[in-house]
Amino acid sequence: KEELNIIQGALELRTKTVEDVLTPLTDCFMLASDVVLDFNTMSDIMQSGYTRIPVFENERSNIIDILFVKDLAFVDPDDCTPLKTITQFYKHPLHCVFNDTKLDAMLEEFKKGKSHLAIVQRVNNEGEGDPFYEVMGIVTLEDVIEEIIKSE
Ligand code: ATP
Ligand code: ATP
Repeated sequence: KEELNIIQGALELRTKTVEDVLTPLTDCFMLASDVVLDFNTMSDIMQSGYTRIPVFENERSNIIDILFVKDLAFVDPDDCTPLKTITQFYKHPLHCVFNDTKLDAMLEEFKKGKSHLAIVQRVNNEGEGDPFYEVMGIVTLEDVIEEIIKSE
């Protein structure tokens, strides 16, 4: 039954983690911080269909900003505005969480925070060197809600 699935989904928020529901970094639509907001870049952004777009510097694992599509409202593609001009104007806070964050805690974070997207990182201590933080992907409120209402 539908209701049972939803209750089941809600109960699982206590055991499942953001790692179980994240969108992996390789699947994320992102922008390099040094791009120019010309016609091509702006149409790529519109065609992606996403509302929140992580911005990285040098490598995709180094996310430094978030662009909201609504930040582009006053941008004219003919001006070829550097993306940096926009991100430095809005300065949306970046929200990072660890991979083992439980979905119920994540839901609380999303409820009280302003942002509905978080960057998921883990501690990588597999190699020879010192452990380091590694970005795994992104998680949004939608990913958590999906976990509650998905039907088996
Ligand atoms: P909204 O619904 O608020 O307009 P959206 O459609 O851009 O936002 P969400 O609804 O938050 O995105 O998420 C839908 C799915 O897309 C989720 O699985 C989420 O992880 C994924 N997602 C969100 N932003 C991106 C992005 N920039 N690149 C790839 N996947 C994304
Ligand atoms: P997003 O968070 O994806 O940027 P948003 O902030 O515009 O979108 P929602 O988060 O979907 O809007 O909704 C927040 C609240 O604002 C909801 O209660 C919704 O009903 C209300 N809302 C959304 N759009 C409007 C609008 N045009 N006028 C008045 N209230 C609105």
